[in-house]
Amino acid sequence: MNEYDYIVIGGGSGGLASAQRAAEYGARVLVFEDARLGGTCVNVGCVPKKVMWTAAQLAHALEESRDYGFDVTVNSHDWPGLCVARDAYVEFLNGIYARNLDRRGVDFVAARAEVESEGVVKDSSGQRYTAKHVLIATGGYPRVPELPGAELGITSDGFFELDRLPGAVAVVGSGYIAVELAGVLHSLGARVTQVVRYDAMLRSFDSLLSEKLTAAQRSLGVDVVTSATPAGVESIDGQRYVALEDGRRLGGFDTLIWAIGRDPNTRDLGLDRIGVVTDDGGYIVVDKYQTTSVPNVYAVGDVTGRAQLTPVAIAAGRRLSDRVFGGREDRYLSYDVIPTVVFSHPPIGTVGMSEREARERFPDEPIKIYTSEFVPMYYALSEQRPKTAMKLVTVGKDERVVGCHIIGPGADEMLQGFAVAVSMGARKTDLDDTIAIHPTSAEELVTMR
Ligand code: FAD
Ligand code: NDP
Repeated sequence: MNEYDYIVIGGGSGGLASAQRAAEYGARVLVFEDARLGGTCVNVGCVPKKVMWTAAQLAHALEESRDYGFDVTVNSHDWPGLCVARDAYVEFLNGIYARNLDRRGVDFVAARAEVESEGVVKDSSGQRYTAKHVLIATGGYPRVPELPGAELGITSDGFFELDRLPGAVAVVGSGYIAVELAGVLHSLGARVTQVVRYDAMLRSFDSLLSEKLTAAQRSLGVDVVTSATPAGVESIDGQRYVALEDGRRLGGFDTLIWAIGRDPNTRDLGLDRIGVVTDDGGYIVVDKYQTTSVPNVYAVGDVTGRAQLTPVAIAAGRRLSDRVFGGREDRYLSYDVIPTVVFSHPPIGTVGMSEREARERFPDEPIKIYTSEFVPMYYALSEQRPKTAMKLVTVGKDERVVGCHIIGPGADEMLQGFAVAVSMGARKTDLDDTIAIHPTSAEELVTMR
């Protein structure tokens, strides 16, 4: 009874997608998950984060509605009530995920699993299971720095357990999570200090986005402290104080959040028993077909350390099953053009290469950049008129669009269609020849000169 075609360790975005696709091809599949089904995205990531971001957007909309003649007084915001409703929604999704496995005939064991030998997996009770093919989709967990007093801080996981809005909060980090959590907390009423190591946030993004976002975070009201590397944390009378390497001291905060990246769940998985190679950061090394250094052992999603996004884990997992169980031998995920959104205020939408990447990758080809900055009509009646900014990066004489970068209201919903165009190799003339939709912000992308 414990013999399967496919064993999947990890019931998150990548593992569930791959398991279900394999089952659709008739494979006998088993999934192990030792926490809640759905993984990071559903339980402590995209889903509860988007709920909080939407609440924060509404807080701004309530303010901005005054510009349109509304006489609005907001008496309070019910943080605990919001969290209860959010968690109930997540639980509802957990149920859907369980039923989806059931419907496709995928077996599920709610336990931790590790690899015992090639093709043999053992669960935490010692029970053994065999399969020709094994997928590692164990994701990751939030990193906490090795500093004195670091345990006085929480991570994004702890953010979702806060039962009240913090008063004064420090968010350490410059990536997606720091930006998003700082924005939500500030918008819902906390005093937020964002502690940034260098001079800007999102430094790996196109410079336009990095610069504009850092400025936007400041004009939102977040106290952005730059060139600030934490050296330690101490607690005095319940308040946290962050000592910086240069001698500065920040505080007191009732809450401190570390948002400095995530590490892979590869420890104690038994990978070394069968010789699965990991890199210096502990991420599993895979080829373009998601195969590890051991044949028939695969890895997808955050545990591979590449583009740690839910749709990427899902696409990699499904394509893997298409190839292994569906006979579609050349199916694999190309990581070249991956659209992504940062749920900041305003949001960022970005796909393809930054200007710097394009110049490095195509040193001998002409690179032409188109930019636009304008006050979106949403703010036409406002005293403060924050600008939307956009950039198109094109390569070659025929101006192939290799990058599209947007920061401004609606960027989150604007990007998906442009990502299709960039994936298909659209030229600037293809955008120019597309009829604009007026009056929108998106129309700028097809009317840039
Ligand atoms: P996971 O979803 O982490 O799943 C791995 C699963 O494996 C976990 O459930 C874990 O419990 C289980 N597991 C681990 N070890 C074992 C074991 N030994 N035995 C059994 N089970 C095990 N991405 C987006 O695209 N958009 C967003 O808006 C977004 N927002 C995010 C916000 C936050 C705060 C965070 C933290 C992440 C966010 N992400 C977002 C990233 C996204 O959540 C991840 O990229 C995605 O969940 C990765 O999927 P995965 O399958 O690789 O891993
Ligand atoms: P990121 O890797 O995106 O960003 C962390 C940043 O923190 C680093 O880039 C670095 O920036 C800074 N940092 C690193 N170490 C330290 C340190 N010791 N002290 C201070 N700062 C430090 O990680 P996140 O935790 O923000 O998110 C993890 C991943 O989850 C993301 O990369 C993304 O793939 C995914 N995610 C996606 C979301 C979305 O799609 N909207 C939302 C949330 C997460 P610098 O070098 O500039 O200091």
